[in-house]
Amino acid sequence: MSLHASTSRYERTPVRRVGRSGLHLPLLSLGLWQNFGDDRPHETQRELVLGAFERGIFHFDLANNYGPPYGAAERNFGRILRDDLAAHRDELVISTKAGWDMWPGPHGAGASRKHLVTSLDRSLERLGLDRVDIFYTHRPDPRTPLEETAAALDHIVRSGRAHYVGMSSYSADAGRQLAGMLRQLGTPVTIHQPSYSMLNRWIETEGLLDVAADEGFGVIGFTALAQGMLTDKYLDGVPEGSRAASPGSFSSSALTDELRDSLRGLAAIASERGQSLAQLALAWALRDPRVTSLVIGASRLSQLDENWRALEQLDFDAQELAEIEDLLGR
Ligand code: NDP
Repeated sequence: MSLHASTSRYERTPVRRVGRSGLHLPLLSLGLWQNFGDDRPHETQRELVLGAFERGIFHFDLANNYGPPYGAAERNFGRILRDDLAAHRDELVISTKAGWDMWPGPHGAGASRKHLVTSLDRSLERLGLDRVDIFYTHRPDPRTPLEETAAALDHIVRSGRAHYVGMSSYSADAGRQLAGMLRQLGTPVTIHQPSYSMLNRWIETEGLLDVAADEGFGVIGFTALAQGMLTDKYLDGVPEGSRAASPGSFSSSALTDELRDSLRGLAAIASERGQSLAQLALAWALRDPRVTSLVIGASRLSQLDENWRALEQLDFDAQELAEIEDLLGR
């Protein structure tokens, strides 16, 4: 049965324009990298997706290999789309990507025309869609000329498989080159998806934000919560069931005593602002208007709820920013 969500939530949902395109995104988007594989109950996944949509998150970020197993997140999201959100398809922005390992052999990963176009066709089948809204080349591929990647992305838009194209994790230089090639072809790059958080500021220091402004593409940061490290949950240990506690995930050895000291300092600033550490980390990562949106993960609805409320307090004064810089610089 299709969900009927109140349209008044759009009046309360802040959006930003994606670069110089006509596309707009909510300040927070939901990512399905973790928590949407076949190892998680369908009902929890459904609750997260519908809960996000009801709050005003209309952008969902996927990739061919999100699972486990690879492809499962697209298939599971496709089921929710068909069963619950069919009437709302036109309101949604659905993104997917190709580039990381997907199938065996030389074309099972990368940014060749063969990989990108074939992978997107399989993604569309799993999602049950004719087209996605944004398609990304998921990572730079030194084995493929940038010209070939640009031509494949141009073809993807012209063939109607995607409305917009983007790149993820390309350096500022490669991003500028790819954007230039696509502009020549008549299909502008709309968006770049880099990692970005208080603990990982390469897009500021290596010039990607400047390139984005020059070239006119938007920026959507991933892992703004550093996979949960920038929340209150690890301040005093590693709770059972958290991502740091699960095998194969980021190592809890990343949580050093020095880092915990800085996190406690940040949590104190957050508390003075009436925010949690997660809310502070999200508001901070949105302080530059060149950052269009952040794609965040959640394993339960209560996290999404907490994170969404970050949008109630986005402003920082100079003293808060200076105190944060001081803590991050230690
Ligand atoms: P986040 O930094 O958003 O971490 C999300 C995790 O942090 C949650 O799953 C949860 O983990 C924990 N968490 C979130 N909110 C809270 C809270 N309020 N309190 C306590 N814990 C919380 O990043 P992700 O690693 O999940 O990545 C987000 C998205 O970014 C992905 O789904 C994907 O779409 C995209 N991405 C893109 C990449 C790319 O190469 N383009 C690479 C990586 C991600 P827990 O399980 O411990 O509860």
